Amino acid sequence: MSNFTNSPLIVHTRISPNRNSPRNQPISKLTVHHFAGVATIENIGNWFAQSSVRASYNYGIGNDGRVALYVPESDRCWGSSSPANDNRAVVIGLSNSATGGQWPVSNAAWNSLVRLAVDICRRNNIPRLWFDGTPNGSLTHHAMFTNTLCPGPFLLNRFNLLCKEVNRQIETTGEYILFVALPGYNSSADALAGRNPRTTKQPGRYYVFNSTTAGAVNITRVRGVPGSWINGNLNIDPGNSAAVFRVQVGAFRERANAEALQIRVRNAGFDAFLVNDNDLFRVQAGSFSVRANAEALLARLRSAGFNDAFINVGHH
Ligand SMILES: [Zn+2]
Repeated sequence: MSNFTNSPLIVHTRISPNRNSPRNQPISKLTVHHFAGVATIENIGNWFAQSSVRASYNYGIGNDGRVALYVPESDRCWGSSSPANDNRAVVIGLSNSATGGQWPVSNAAWNSLVRLAVDICRRNNIPRLWFDGTPNGSLTHHAMFTNTLCPGPFLLNRFNLLCKEVNRQIETTGEYILFVALPGYNSSADALAGRNPRTTKQPGRYYVFNSTTAGAVNITRVRGVPGSWINGNLNIDPGNSAAVFRVQVGAFRERANAEALQIRVRNAGFDAFLVNDNDLFRVQAGSFSVRANAEALLARLRSAGFNDAFINVGHH
């Protein structure tokens, strides 16, 4: 079971006795209710504080848009009349802005719902919110499980819009290939300025979580979850650049021998590639415009056991 966290968006906490601790399934869903009344988060908290009510949500959103926690995400709330759903879901209940009819909610409450849903999906690695009117979707509602009007026509009519808004924010924009090892940073500004490196991002395939026009890229291994910022301007494609400092691990007349070494280098965590020229298949692990970068990679290759690696200075 993963480590559970709670949303940083909460401004009020009133833990309800109506829950099972811990939940018995990982979080993979979101369930949205309406409160069937106009309420503050304090009102909702007082209601669920009564054990006789035998009901709760994980989070409540008041008519003014403020967000409260009633059942920690580690625990199963009693929200949807379905243990199978509630053990898998983070359950959110919204105050209405008026009673009866469409059971509307305020713009402030709606905006908080979108923000909270994005936050829940990101922290729990829910890759995409989808709703098909059945309990199979990652977005569910109360009336799927029992005879109720909840979540009301207003919210139900916006379930597809909620999916669209949330997915626009959590889905990544494509793949990113990192050709060379680069330092990873906590912010785009640090990445571009080369300040406060936090980690080293190894060559390989990533998703783009975010990017700036100045060339900073937030790359991630987990779709929809933020990773580290790198300076994408330094990510020089060794096969398509004016780089001149090549790190060569070996050279062979037989292609099969070169491919075998390429696999060993890749298995050691380097992004090796083959270059075929002058009847030789060369196995190279990097190509740089800055010599110091090539030397750093050379040192790592040698300490990984590739003692014959060397820097080949050439021109394009
Ligand atoms: Zn409900």
